[in-house]
Amino acid sequence: METSVLVIYTGGTIGMKRNAKTGALIPFDFSEIEREVPELKKFKYKLDTHSFKNPIDSSDVQPEFWANIATVIKNNYDLYGGFVILHGTDTMSYSAAALSFMLENLNKPVIFTGSQLPIDSLRTDGKENILSAIEIAASQQSGKPIVPEVCIFFEDKLFRGNRTTKHSAENFNAFRSYNYPALAESGVEIKYNLPAIAKPKSNKVLKIYTQMDTSVIGLKIFPGINCDFIDNILNINGLKGIVIETFGSGNTPTSEKFLMKFKSAIDKGLIVLNISQCQVGSVEMERYETGILFKNTGVICGKNMTFEAAITKMEFLLANNKTISQIKENLQKSLRGEIS
Ligand code: ASP
Repeated sequence: METSVLVIYTGGTIGMKRNAKTGALIPFDFSEIEREVPELKKFKYKLDTHSFKNPIDSSDVQPEFWANIATVIKNNYDLYGGFVILHGTDTMSYSAAALSFMLENLNKPVIFTGSQLPIDSLRTDGKENILSAIEIAASQQSGKPIVPEVCIFFEDKLFRGNRTTKHSAENFNAFRSYNYPALAESGVEIKYNLPAIAKPKSNKVLKIYTQMDTSVIGLKIFPGINCDFIDNILNINGLKGIVIETFGSGNTPTSEKFLMKFKSAIDKGLIVLNISQCQVGSVEMERYETGILFKNTGVICGKNMTFEAAITKMEFLLANNKTISQIKENLQKSLRGEIS
């Protein structure tokens, strides 16, 4: 099949315009982008667009929105060689992580991008981002896509989506992948880091999952955290999982009161996944006595997963796995290259 790319426009700063009254940026339709980027007509392969009816600021993203993106990809999977998702930067890392789990047996590129400045600004970063993302989505080697993964392209780097975090609200270089190398770097040429890119294991057909279970919360601990407040959180009605962000390599306070609250909630079926507040490195609960004591409560180890990957993976597994032990096992292993 000849290379072809479907650009899916969901909203975000890239297509925003100023509200004449308030001066605030609001999402606009894709026509704005087409007008500002005439270069889109220069691609020699088929380039189509699918615009969401109501483009949104990505702060409004909900799991149903991820399900819509997954469905558009599934419905067009055989018609295109790759996909580019135009999306707001605020929650792009969550969406890229969620989609990586929701798309099973993916063997085509799904490249998220957006911009820090609207496409009609003189110094917009949107133009280069969208053009490079399309080129990457279309890139093939020996008739096969070079990057058959869910990724984020921003400024000059291509990252595995479920390894990223939005790191800056002001730099064009807005994303980081602290615990996994860039998959490509764009300069005069786009240089691919082939050993770091996933190789699809089979030619199985794409399967999409559209359900996520949001009975989860994130909890960041800090010195002096109030055990009674923790108790209230652990006993929230309907809560099934917590991603806890701990100190350093997975350490927490060691007071009996703190540890017992977690142990009794976990004994009753709550899933607690331990990731680090540090962006670089991994949870290793056996490294310090403090970590071992926390591990003994039944908490499980999230190694070097980002918060974005951990929380969306938990939502995905809660909705699609049957037993707590299956969820716990899958949380600790790599499903889409999100953990190492
Ligand atoms: N608030 C915007 C959004 O996430 C920010 C951006 O696109 O950069 O939709």
